Amino acid sequence: MGWSQVYAEALSLIGQVEPRVAEATRQELADQRSSLKLIASENYASLPVLAAMGTWFSDKYAEGTVGHRFYAGCQNVDTVESVAAEHARALFGADYAYAQPHSGIDANLVAYWSILAHRVESPTLERLGAKSVNELSEGDWEELRLTFAQQRVMGMSLDVGGHLTHGFRPNISGKMFRQLSYGTDPVTQLIDYDKLLADAREFKPLIIVAGYSAYPRRVNFARMREIADAVGATLFVDMAHFAGLVAGKVFTGEEDPVPWADVVATTTHKSLRGPRGGLVLAAKEYAADVDRGCPMVLGGPLSHVMAAKAVALAEARQPAFQDYARRVADNAKVLAEGLLKRGVKLVTGGTDNHIVLMDVANFGITGRQAESALLDAGIVTNRNSVPNDPNGAWYTSGVRIGTPALTTRGFGADEFDRVAELIADVLKAAAPADSPSGPSKAKYVLPDGLAQRTKAAAAELLDAHPLYPELQL
Ligand SMILES: *Cc1c(COP(=O)(O)O)cnc(C)c1O
Repeated sequence: MGWSQVYAEALSLIGQVEPRVAEATRQELADQRSSLKLIASENYASLPVLAAMGTWFSDKYAEGTVGHRFYAGCQNVDTVESVAAEHARALFGADYAYAQPHSGIDANLVAYWSILAHRVESPTLERLGAKSVNELSEGDWEELRLTFAQQRVMGMSLDVGGHLTHGFRPNISGKMFRQLSYGTDPVTQLIDYDKLLADAREFKPLIIVAGYSAYPRRVNFARMREIADAVGATLFVDMAHFAGLVAGKVFTGEEDPVPWADVVATTTHKSLRGPRGGLVLAAKEYAADVDRGCPMVLGGPLSHVMAAKAVALAEARQPAFQDYARRVADNAKVLAEGLLKRGVKLVTGGTDNHIVLMDVANFGITGRQAESALLDAGIVTNRNSVPNDPNGAWYTSGVRIGTPALTTRGFGADEFDRVAELIADVLKAAAPADSPSGPSKAKYVLPDGLAQRTKAAAAELLDAHPLYPELQL
């Protein structure tokens, strides 16, 4: 029996209980097949990865760690969790891997609290001669709680591509820590390491966070290590976006975060092409603290997702994944060059990872209008602010795109150059619609027929590179 029958049968069973869910699931496949997915944080996991998630592992509670659970009967969960961790350690060359986090945010919380446990809690317990926090008096505990709140983090500014979880107020990380941002050079738009060092010397952070979700360039993690060492900070790298390029050995040496960082967190579903989930890697010194992610931050692990992580990480250890990762980066270069030569401005003037950040201000539209006009034409992107964005974080002047998903479908240089052409044509033709108070920042107009023509051109590319060709659904 093939995949088509397996999924047809599964959808039919689902449909007997709730037809709307079965129908939405079918429709989601159709929609993903028929749109140019350029969202830089999305991908398509393999069918074995997807299948590994849909099992009875979902029914099992397994709080604790491998071989040390608070529930009986966890021997099979132990197997999938240790296989996932084994693959992660081998793939990334890490001392220790923790496969339980449910998402990128959860992985970051595990990372933060393990660093706080290591740097703040353990020394306090030692000083007071206590073995665990449960032994502390009310007064000592209250003092320790207040000490947590005084810790400082430096993360990349949201404005230049950092992530909300790097100490920003709307996220819990900003409520936990005092935060200072580091930014990029106003001219080159690249990370200004000298300024970061100077600011770190003044601010004295406990943690320096490196990593981004909208910065189209590589980071020098050896330099980040030097800066962290100079101020006694723990180096935490959030590679949620670019883990696939690390796994696929596109980022090596000073660009590979794992040998330089104390703790590394990632998602597993972005460029890594696994199930929706998180993962934490740690140097030996931090391993025991990360291992306490449950109960520190997490409840029971998603065993079915850990099974899928194990499958995805096994896939990422195949030579084909290195080829994939190289194509992701090569394709991003082609996409960037294709846009530049057609008059589209790019933040930092290009890319050397999987992200391209377009600045659409010179077309007289906002990022929001660009995002909507592109969507109309069958091109799925997301708006994003650019450094010092005059349109703010809601309307923005930027649109972020990336190559991981379409590279999974088999798009190469020719296809990405054509994608650049389709995008540039839409951006050039889009104009703000009139509103009673002047040109709208949200509504837009496109010339008649352009959206349809672009959709047809996109369909040609997509039909030549079908998504899940094994699935006749
Ligand atoms: C996507 C992302 C996250 C959050 O991942 P979720 O799985 O959505 O919680 C965290 N950090 C960075 C840098 C990201 O890009």
